[in-house]
Amino acid sequence: MAKLMLHNEERLKVAATALSLLTNRLVVNTSGNVSIRVGDHVIITPSGRPYESLQPEDICVLDLSGEAVDGTLLPSSETPLHLAVYSSDPSITAIVHTHSVHATAVTTLIDELPAIHYQLADMGGAIPVAPYATFGTPELAQSVTSVLPGKSAVLMKNHGSLTIANTLEKACERTITLEWCAEVWLKAHMAGTPTIVAKEEMERVKQQMDRIGAERDKRLHDRADDCSCCDTP
Ligand code: 13P
Ligand code: ZN
Repeated sequence: MAKLMLHNEERLKVAATALSLLTNRLVVNTSGNVSIRVGDHVIITPSGRPYESLQPEDICVLDLSGEAVDGTLLPSSETPLHLAVYSSDPSITAIVHTHSVHATAVTTLIDELPAIHYQLADMGGAIPVAPYATFGTPELAQSVTSVLPGKSAVLMKNHGSLTIANTLEKACERTITLEWCAEVWLKAHMAGTPTIVAKEEMERVKQQMDRIGAERDKRLHDRADDCSCCDTP
C-alpha cells in the first residue's frame, strides 16, 4: 500500500505554484522559491530542482528551526530567509520569491519602488528595496525582514522580489502585481518623470479595497454554490 505522505495536499500546491511561476515567466530555470507554513511546519521547494519535474515528495517539510521533518532533497538555499519571515509575523503563512525581470531591473536602479499605481496599496504602498546581501545567507534574511514590517512585498537589491500573504494564491497575485508595477515604473521612467499617488490617497484606496473585498466575499458567501469559506454544498 502506498505510504501516506505528510502534508500531501500542501506539497502538491507548492509544486504547482512553483511551476506556475515558471510558466508565467516570473522565474527562469530553477531560480526563486515558494513556501507555506502549516502550524509548526514549513513546506518549501527544494534547492535547484527543475520546476517541471517536481513531485510532491520532492517538496521539503521542515520545522520552524529548519530541521527536516519529511523529504530527502536539500531545501531551498533561501530557507533562512523564509524562516526569518515566518518568525517575524505569525500571520504570514505563504511566501513567494522570484527573480522576475522587471522587479529585478528596478532593484538595480532605486532603493524604493514609489507608489506609481493605486494597486500597490494592497502591499503597503511604496515597496522598499532591501540592501544587497549574498543569496541564502542570514544577512539576506536580516536585510529583508528589516524592511518588511507594514509591507506585503519587498524588492531585494540586485536579486529579485519577495511577497507574503496568508494564502499562496494571494502571495502569487501580489508577485504578479508587483512585477506589473515594476514594468510600468520602468516604462514611465524611461519616458519622463512618473507621478506618484499621494500617501493619503493610498490610505483611502486601501480602505476602498477592504470595503469592496468584504462585500465581494459576502456576495460569494450568500451564493451558496460559490462559497469557499463554509461547507455548504
Ligand atoms: P534555491 O533553488 O536554492 O531555492 O535558490 C534559488 C534562489 O532564488 C536563491 O536566491
Ligand atoms: Zn533568489
